[in-house]
Amino acid sequence: MAGRLGIVFGLALGLLLALLPGTALGEPAADAAKHALWADVDFKISRLHGEIGFGELSPAVRDALHGVPRDQFVPERQRRHAFENRPLPIGFGQTISQPLIVAIMSELLAIEPGDSVFELGTGSGYQAAVLDALGARVYSVEIIPELAERARDTLDRLGHGGVETRVADGYFGWPQAAPFDAIIVTAATDHVPPPLLQQLKTGGRMVIPVGSRYSTQKLVYIAREPDGTLRTREILPVTFVPLTGGH
Ligand code: SAH
Repeated sequence: MAGRLGIVFGLALGLLLALLPGTALGEPAADAAKHALWADVDFKISRLHGEIGFGELSPAVRDALHGVPRDQFVPERQRRHAFENRPLPIGFGQTISQPLIVAIMSELLAIEPGDSVFELGTGSGYQAAVLDALGARVYSVEIIPELAERARDTLDRLGHGGVETRVADGYFGWPQAAPFDAIIVTAATDHVPPPLLQQLKTGGRMVIPVGSRYSTQKLVYIAREPDGTLRTREILPVTFVPLTGGH
């Protein structure tokens, strides 16, 4: 009798915990959710082959993604959703990008260890941590001081202290650290900021969502060829929060 009561109590407690908003997933559930997330990303990337130009992630990008705990970059009440393949709110009207899009952008940048990379839009710090895990020297700029501060704490706590961050309008890049092997813009703009093009090395790669803030944008890939000319390719439709600032 007592045993059965214990089971009933246990089940009820389990159900209650599962339904409580804001509780993190238990470890086995989190592992399963993580596994399902990255399997979903792999599947979607294989389906997008024709548009994005590759059908699978390189081992380096896959290892980096699998190694960075996305749940640590979202506010506590979003933790239980951290391994779902969608953007999540991080406060101040901003979002952490969808894992699929982080994966595609990271792959397109073709990071080699030691590359210097500029990120416009630190947000949660998640994308910066993935780039750091790929061995890049990361310079990331965020315009909202509170987000920048929180990202700084998270990056330090998770061993990504090497990521350079600062509060500024990223439209102007980071002239003191330029030029860059790669540039990633994680907020939507209706044009490619000229200062960023100027700060892209010969042989460098940029990914940027271009288009109206009121509709979906196009993820655009830009490479500066060895002869200095720019080669541009539209990758796929995306939805990002808008670039802000007084530029
Ligand atoms: N890369 C982030 C997602 C960022 S969302 C992550 O991994 O979590 C886009 C971010 O760009 C927001 O935090 C927003 O505040 C920031 N942003 C918007 N306009 C900006 C600007 N002009 N300069 C710097 N950051 C900007």
